[in-house]
Formats: sequence, C-alpha cells, structure tokens
Amino acid sequence: MTGETYRSEFGRILELIDNNDRFLMIGHIDPDGDCLGSMFAMTLFVRARGKDVVCYAPGDVPERLLGLPGADSLTDRDMIASFAPQVVIALDSPTHGRTENVMDIVGDVPVVNMDHHPSNEMYGEVNIVDESAAAAALLVFRFLESVDPESITPDIASCLYLGILMDTGSFRFQNTDEDALSAAGRLIGYGARAYELTHEFVYMKKFRTLKLLVPVLDSLELSCEGRIATMQIKREMLESSGAEFKDSEGFIDYGAAIDDVELVALFREVGPDKTKVSLRSRNHHDVSLLAGRYGGGGHAKAAGLTINDSIDNVTKTILRDLEGLVSGR
Ligand code: AMP
Ligand code: MN
Ligand code: MN
Repeated sequence: MTGETYRSEFGRILELIDNNDRFLMIGHIDPDGDCLGSMFAMTLFVRARGKDVVCYAPGDVPERLLGLPGADSLTDRDMIASFAPQVVIALDSPTHGRTENVMDIVGDVPVVNMDHHPSNEMYGEVNIVDESAAAAALLVFRFLESVDPESITPDIASCLYLGILMDTGSFRFQNTDEDALSAAGRLIGYGARAYELTHEFVYMKKFRTLKLLVPVLDSLELSCEGRIATMQIKREMLESSGAEFKDSEGFIDYGAAIDDVELVALFREVGPDKTKVSLRSRNHHDVSLLAGRYGGGGHAKAAGLTINDSIDNVTKTILRDLEGLVSGR
C-alpha cells in the first residue's frame, strides 16, 4: 500500500479532523505497543491542530507504555459519554467486540477505522484497512506523511516507531518487509528515538517478569515429534513471582524459538473457568482460523482466543486441534 492508494480516504480523515473539535481514539482490549503507539501518534497530531482528544482501550495497559508521549490522554470508559466525542478513530481494532463495543457509548458519530487485521469488519465511515501492513502504525504514518509530513514530531515518530518495532517482534517476524523497514528508517529521520525505545521496550525486563519466566519455561511441553509447543501461565505462578499477565508479553516467542517447532500455544489462567490462549504459527497453517472457531481471531501467524473453561481442559482441547492441523486431519 502507498499513500496514493488511500489519497481520497486520507483527505476525508483530514476533513473530519479539521471540521470537528472532540475526538476519541480507541484501541483493542489489552492494548499493545502498536495499538497504543498508533493511538498516541494520532492523538498528538490531532491535538497539534488545536483539538481535544481522549484515548480509551479496555483491559490492561502495560505500565511501560504509560510513559509514551500522548499517554496523558488515556481516560476511563465512564468519562467517554460526558466528553461527547464528535469523531471516533479506531486503531488496530478489527471488530466492535475487540474494543468491548465502546462505540455504542458515543452514538452515531463518524468512525475512522485504521487497522491491519485480515478479520477487520470494515465498520468505519472511512476504512484504512491493509492486512499486508506489518503494523497499524504504518497506516498512521502513511496518513501523516501524505497529509502533513511537517507535523511528524520526534514524539509522534517515536510512537509510530514503537508500533512497528513491537508488531514485527523487533524486526524479526515474517512481516518485516521493505515497507516496515523503510518506514522505520524514515521515522528515525523524523526523530524517532529508536535506540531508547528498543532499550526500554525490548531489552529491559522487570525482575518480576524474569521470576515469572522461570515457571513458564518449566511448563513448556513438546508434542507431535517436537512440532507443537505448549506453555502455561497459572495463577499460582503470578502469585509466587509477584507478576501480572501483562508482564508476560513475548513469552510465547520462547516456544516459537525452539528448533522444529511449527505451532505454539500459550495458555493464561485468567480465572478458574476462563483461559486466554495465544497461538503462533511458523508454518503455512493459519492459526487465526483455529482461533475463529472459538470466537477469537488475529493474523495467520499470530492469533488469540478466550474459552470459558479451566486452563488444563483448554490446553487439552487446543492441543488436540493443533495436532489435527499438523497431521492434516
Ligand atoms: P496475542 O497472542 O495476545 O499477542 O495476540 C495475537 C494476535 O491475535 C493479535 O493480533 C490480537 O489482536 C489477536 N487476538 C488475540 N486474542 C484475540 C481474541 N480473543 N479475539 C480476536 N483476536 C485476538
Ligand atoms: Mn495489537
Ligand atoms: Mn497491530
């Protein structure tokens, strides 16, 4: 995708921004670096045009991301109705469900939908949806470069750089293409603090995160001659390490890093009868299809779902599905 592809949509977004005063940026549940980086970059851009902006994403916001420029715009769900936004801009959010239907609160206002999930339901009045983009931040960057490159401050560039950095697994995943790398390079040109972001978000770990990693790595199991890896995070592991689920971002990559592993599942015990599952594929299997069977979704290589059952039951169920995939059943 290039700026050209969406020229008229980008013009429409700018018009919506310039003709309104109050904006709500929304993101998906348990927002990640791409989601929040994209939300905050848009926030800083819209604010610089003299507008009021608030941001909302349901679930847990990882503590480190609260240090990003623009994070002061984050608000509570209860505050949205009285703010009375005139335009909603949704970032990295494929469906209403993934934002916990926050759009229901604001009534009938124009929605701009900027996303890179293949499962996007095109719910916006303007839809900038490109599944070939490595990160939603790339779409925001295309928009800003197309309509007003001079607006891209070092803070905006840093938020967008972080989005690309996180969604490409620090430029290691298969989505690390020419577009992603060239955007990252240009963002450094706009002042993105690349080294500091990598240091803070990739290299540095909290003590409690490493304490949690020990039992999680201990839970690793291989099946189907080493082609499937599973890992579990149980409540007792959180209690003994003092960590929370949001400290476990990236743990699944350890499973995916094992020689010969093709499919990985990480199970998180959210409650006694509620389990969150993260899936990764390192072969041709599209794990978003499997996630979709349980009401989840995501991308071909990285997807997720939640099942209302115990962690051990869900582990058995999903493992059976994964075995079916690798054996071609
Ligand atoms: P995660 O394993 O949480 O890093 O998520 C991997 C990908 O799957 C991300 O693109 C998520 O947006 C997506 N995803 C995770 N959980 C769900 C879910 N319950 N429903 C839809 N998509 C999900
Ligand atoms: Mn995301
Ligand atoms: Mn994303």
